Amino acid sequence: MKKKCYICEKGSLTKKKVDYKLYGISIGKFEAEICDKCGETFFDEDVSRKMTEIAKKKGLWGLQAKTKIGQSGTTLDIRLPKRIITFLNLKKGKEVEVYPEGKNKLVISI
Ligand SMILES: [Zn+2]
Repeated sequence: MKKKCYICEKGSLTKKKVDYKLYGISIGKFEAEICDKCGETFFDEDVSRKMTEIAKKKGLWGLQAKTKIGQSGTTLDIRLPKRIITFLNLKKGKEVEVYPEGKNKLVISI
């Protein structure tokens, strides 16, 4: 009998290799179990550990951070953490494009 989905508990899980991406960068292909109803993807512990290792090696680990909106004059500014600056090689004065994606996401495109 096939395993039931851990999330929707209705679909059954099929093994498949999937391309895993972190921040839009491919980490590699990994064995996963995918639900045929809700589409949720599950990785076992060993696979998760391997993905974390690769992400760390690629410098993709811990890039997500909390920051606060500051104010300078009449405009607001966002301070970027050092890790992000290094990863994207950002410099003072560089022109970037900002736009909303939905009502609760801000994209900064370089
Ligand atoms: Zn499911």
